[in-house]
Amino acid sequence: MTLAEDTTGHAPHVTLPCPACGRWNRIAARRMTDGPKCGICAAPLNLAHPVALTDATFDRVIHETSLPILVDFYADWCGPCRMMAPAVDELARTSAGHTLVAKLDTDASQKVASRYQIRGIPTVIVFRNGREERRQSGVMPLAALREMVR
Ligand SMILES: [Zn+2]
Repeated sequence: MTLAEDTTGHAPHVTLPCPACGRWNRIAARRMTDGPKCGICAAPLNLAHPVALTDATFDRVIHETSLPILVDFYADWCGPCRMMAPAVDELARTSAGHTLVAKLDTDASQKVASRYQIRGIPTVIVFRNGREERRQSGVMPLAALREMVR
């Protein structure tokens, strides 16, 4: 798979697949709020919303993104997850450029969920440089989510 380069050197960046064409893009952190588009198909890469990760995309996003990544492990049937979703959305909207906010559906992506031994949802894990840094289970308000990525 090719990578649409959008940055030079080792400037802080995120790496993620285009939701429209699936090709990988690297986006400089400073451009995250700049209406970034896919380098291949020009579809908008909406980084003001949580990015949906899957078993197929999780590892590359986690390992090739130099910003901290907050991942909300959730499921559609989970009421507490739905309660927390607006806070996760708001975190994504307000923290683009210094944090990548992502979600992983633990029913659809069971390999990743089981590797990280997700036992209760919602569980939030903050990754930095490919490694788990912090983890918290249960519904958290926006302020607590922000505190996790400080
Ligand atoms: Zn694309």
